[in-house]
Amino acid sequence: MKIKEIHIYAHDLPVKNGPYTMANAEVWALDTTLVKLVAEDGTTGWGETCPVGPTYAEAHAEGARAALKAMAKGLIGADLWPVALHHRMNGLLNGHNYAKAAIDIAAHDLIGKKLGVNVADLLGGAQTERVPSYYATGVGAPDDIARLAKEKLAEGYPRLQIKVGGRPVEIDVETIRKVWEVVGGTGMRLAVDGNRGWTTRDALRVSRECPDVPFIMEQPCNTYQDLEKIRPQVSHGIYMDENSVDLNTVISAAGTGLVDGFGMKVTRIGGLQNMRTFRDICEARNLPHTCDDSWGGDIIAAACTQIASTVRPTLMEGAWLAAPYIEGNYDPENGITIQGGHIQRPTGPGLGVIPDETLFGAPVASY
Ligand SMILES: [Mg+2]
Repeated sequence: MKIKEIHIYAHDLPVKNGPYTMANAEVWALDTTLVKLVAEDGTTGWGETCPVGPTYAEAHAEGARAALKAMAKGLIGADLWPVALHHRMNGLLNGHNYAKAAIDIAAHDLIGKKLGVNVADLLGGAQTERVPSYYATGVGAPDDIARLAKEKLAEGYPRLQIKVGGRPVEIDVETIRKVWEVVGGTGMRLAVDGNRGWTTRDALRVSRECPDVPFIMEQPCNTYQDLEKIRPQVSHGIYMDENSVDLNTVISAAGTGLVDGFGMKVTRIGGLQNMRTFRDICEARNLPHTCDDSWGGDIIAAACTQIASTVRPTLMEGAWLAAPYIEGNYDPENGITIQGGHIQRPTGPGLGVIPDETLFGAPVASY
């Protein structure tokens, strides 16, 4: 199975009731990139990559498209099987995992469609048809976030992630306390995500002032070294998100016991092939993790849901999707939605979604 054609598309995803606010970013609309691969026999597969603005990760939309264009010519005639495909991509371009992920996801979709099997089966087999999601609140006033927590608890979300940082840390502490008054004792798990926005001083203070609230601290500070510094001093579990930029970093963080889990993004790690390796490393070390992506439409949502369904349920922290924040679906029939805080896994061949490609207009580049 070899690649015959590659088409690259740019598409705008407006944020519903925007902006979405994080410690370092305010997001009004997302510029997503879609890739269509066509095999020699005409079978197609779709991939997607969508950085959540230019300041969340070391990634941006035009960067994804430039990297894809840089690789595309050299990928015509390439083997679609993921191991060979990654060797080929790495021989054409160093790094740029988030661009390679779009090709990797499209290859999985295509192989699944060609073989008539679902991507979760290609990744080892689904362990559930109903994948837990979690809700991420955005940075907001303590009372507003507590109200939202109540709403999401009632909707059936098993986990809540509150965003903090980028403001006086006292307000973050107040937010955590007010949210815990709502969700404490309900069984809803709580994550507090600093998105790199706290200093180590802030993280130590929050942990010291909330010893009775069993949240996990997700990517509280900016660097790997910051996490090493606070690790011996905090009583809360630490998850790494933004710093886990590749498998090498994951192996170090898991192997040295620096973290208690990960927030992981399919595109940051380089696509589904690397994600399955990540999943297996976490399983070996008994580390819980999410399977999400920073943003994007049905293609990314389907990729996250498929890999998430293959994770041992006790280690699955949920698949975050942008679906609640964006209008409409690429696939009007099988588009991915969250209901009762969970995602029904699409079971059709490949990713299980077929985008209406007229939504994307003409490709920005074709090879
Ligand atoms: Mg995060």
